[in-house]
Amino acid sequence: AQLANQIAAGEVVERPASVVKELVENSLDAQATQIDIELEKGGSKLIRIRDNGVGIAEAELVLALSRHATSKISSLADLEQIESLGFRGEALASISSVARLTLTSKPAQQAAAWQASAEGRDMAVELRPAAHPDGTSIDVVDLFFNTPARRRFLRSDKTEFTHIDELIKRLALSRFDVAWQLSHNGQVVRRLPVADTAAAKQKRLALICGRNFAEQALWIENQYGEIKLSGWILPAMACQAVSSGQYSYVNGRMMRDKLLNHAIRQAYGDWLAAELQPAFVLYLELPANDVDVNVHPAKHEVRFHQARLVHDFVVSALADALTQGQD
Ligand code: ADP
Ligand code: MG
Repeated sequence: AQLANQIAAGEVVERPASVVKELVENSLDAQATQIDIELEKGGSKLIRIRDNGVGIAEAELVLALSRHATSKISSLADLEQIESLGFRGEALASISSVARLTLTSKPAQQAAAWQASAEGRDMAVELRPAAHPDGTSIDVVDLFFNTPARRRFLRSDKTEFTHIDELIKRLALSRFDVAWQLSHNGQVVRRLPVADTAAAKQKRLALICGRNFAEQALWIENQYGEIKLSGWILPAMACQAVSSGQYSYVNGRMMRDKLLNHAIRQAYGDWLAAELQPAFVLYLELPANDVDVNVHPAKHEVRFHQARLVHDFVVSALADALTQGQD
């Protein structure tokens, strides 16, 4: 029971973007190198995610749709070292309880694809043969069709789409080894091929944060013991009232962390006028057991075991680069 509480039960399926986040994290867990996201009406009508990952075997399709059946955490000790993005084993079950979900998959070593969907009031899972290349597709149709109160909380299609686009941008900045495609109402909105060279990374950076950011940002690479900081930061003189992006990652996970944000602001010091917004894409890496990622159920916050040390290292690494950037 203690373990169950720590896992912060109750999946947050708040809006289309939270569905996309869970599904894309599953694709990444499945080692996909190509992820296509297709949306209709801001995701409220359709969210379709296709990946070329390892797939789900026929015998496991039904299990994948059931709550906790797949939780990868079997002991408290495992909580200390959470490596894969998903660990609660309830995203698919939660989503299928508030939308019409269809799961189609074919592992490379399986001859044919199979499809599963939960139907009817008792949510009995039906299995049928299907046609599908190696990998997995998940269709989420009519989100919140059976929970009108939540459906009413959805904003305009444009707003919901913007949330999803922002999520994909954040993910694409942490996974240059994955090709991403995002379509909305039949139109490709973002196409980001795999970026495996410095030039290709720079190109992706420009596509996501804008050409201005990509051209003016300073490249950072710094290390203190086992703590590493790398990424791009915009010099103070190039920052504007409307930020061209604030992206930070801890051990590959996107974060909106207070400590990091504070350290970044402090590094700019007096160079950055109060009304201007810093812009950065920063990657912090440290040993998994120096950081607790299970602080917030939505997984946007972390707790550093040596908070002061991490903070001061980030300030000094960035301040160095920003000071040089002033010359
Ligand atoms: P969790 O990711 O926490 O295990 P989910 O409900 O998100 O729980 O997914 C259930 C299981 O379904 C996963 O553990 C995984 O085995 C399988 N699965 C889901 N999506 C995919 C995918 N895109 N590719 C391969 N397997 C998947
Ligand atoms: Mg998951």
